[in-house]
Amino acid sequence: MKPAPFDYAKPNSVEEVFDLLDRYGDDARLLAGGQSLLPSLNMRLSAPAILIDITGQHALRGIVIGDGVLRIGALTTYAEVKASVEVARAAPMLSQAIPWIAHPAIRNRGTVGGSLAHADPAAELPACMLALDAQLEIAAKSGRRRVAAADFFRGLFETDLKPGEMLTAIEVPVIRANYRSGFSEFSRRSGDFAMSGLAAHARFDGEVLSDVRLAYCGVDTRPVRARIAERVLEGRPFGSAALAEAKAALAKDLDPPDDLQATGQMKLHLSQVLAGRVLTTMGRAAGG
Ligand SMILES: Cc1cc2nc3c(=O)[nH]c(=O)nc-3n(C[C@H](O)[C@H](O)[C@H](O)COP(=O)(O)OP(=O)(O)OC[C@H]3O[C@@H](n4cnc5c(N)ncnc54)[C@H](O)[C@@H]3O)c2cc1C
Repeated sequence: MKPAPFDYAKPNSVEEVFDLLDRYGDDARLLAGGQSLLPSLNMRLSAPAILIDITGQHALRGIVIGDGVLRIGALTTYAEVKASVEVARAAPMLSQAIPWIAHPAIRNRGTVGGSLAHADPAAELPACMLALDAQLEIAAKSGRRRVAAADFFRGLFETDLKPGEMLTAIEVPVIRANYRSGFSEFSRRSGDFAMSGLAAHARFDGEVLSDVRLAYCGVDTRPVRARIAERVLEGRPFGSAALAEAKAALAKDLDPPDDLQATGQMKLHLSQVLAGRVLTTMGRAAGG
């Protein structure tokens, strides 16, 4: 199939992007890496009046650390994030998660902002942003605002972005002393979307866990925190007893629907296995 006809614009400045977004509202789509947008155009799942190509907006690209915050421009590609020593140091979870996303050709073009704006429930980065308590910077002609990742993902491919708005950057607190994070997932084949994926972040004081954050992808209509399992682990030594209780609690947190990849029951089982794998690896890294 071929896409429905659309106009195309490649603005020379971010201001021009906002002017176009303001003029076309919901009839416009931003073109970033194109790795999700182009398939959806070709399948006619989306038929915008205009594509606004932002690939030339270099102000939206880049990685900087300052004041305890890692800032990633929305147009930064997965490959750039993976190659960044700053990211590896400040938010190692992201470096661990990127290789799970698709294939190298897609990671060379796909962008962090595109992934978050697209909000595929099985995508890796939205779960990471939830676990890391990221702040998302959103801008429009009328001004800027910030939204916590927890409030950004609203439902299936649905976010807090309004017509006329663009995601401009993502800010993640730099990992602090005693904190560990990890990411892993199960997918049918290497590069496929996750049947279940876990982004975990926690403080280890010796063996004792606190500030535990378990964010899953692939098990709901959006990335979700496993709050009951988190509470089970909070403030106690990490070991086989705590892990067994946390796995049991996951059955209360998660109710994955059946899909083409796996039954809900299988996804829950995989989510429990992931909790064991990821937390155990984090515990070992912490010397626990
Ligand atoms: C074969 C294949 C396998 C894949 N496997 C995975 C996988 O395992 N995991 C995974 O996470 N993804 C996967 N993807 C999707 C890929 O990661 C996409 O790159 C990503 O979802 C979208 O990023 P993009 O930069 O390509 O955005 P685009 O495709 O350009 O845009 C996607 C949507 O986001 C909007 N958008 C883009 N940037 C912004 C912005 N800054 N502000 C507001 N709206 C914006 C666009 O208008 C569009 O609606 C796969 C894709 C393919 C083709």
